[in-house]
Amino acid sequence: MAYVCPRCGGKVSRGYSRGAQMTAGLVGAAFYAAFGPFQCVKCGRIPKSEFPADVQARMVRGTGLLILAGLAALALVIWLFSLNPSN
Ligand SMILES: [Zn+2]
Repeated sequence: MAYVCPRCGGKVSRGYSRGAQMTAGLVGAAFYAAFGPFQCVKCGRIPKSEFPADVQARMVRGTGLLILAGLAALALVIWLFSLNPSN
């Protein structure tokens, strides 16, 4: 998901943390992507409140999808662990 910077019109992307992915795996990466900062190549971090209202609405929908994806991944892991291989 890419957004347009409200300051310079450049491309803004979600912050990505390799560390978060290493420590918490797929779920951690999804949650970091959902709640992490927005970064403009030129301006650095952009607070969500600086984006226009319609863009913020899109972000909320995107965040919901990311959380769903994270929960689905978590449910899959729990399901895999609940399978007893000795049976
Ligand atoms: Zn910018």
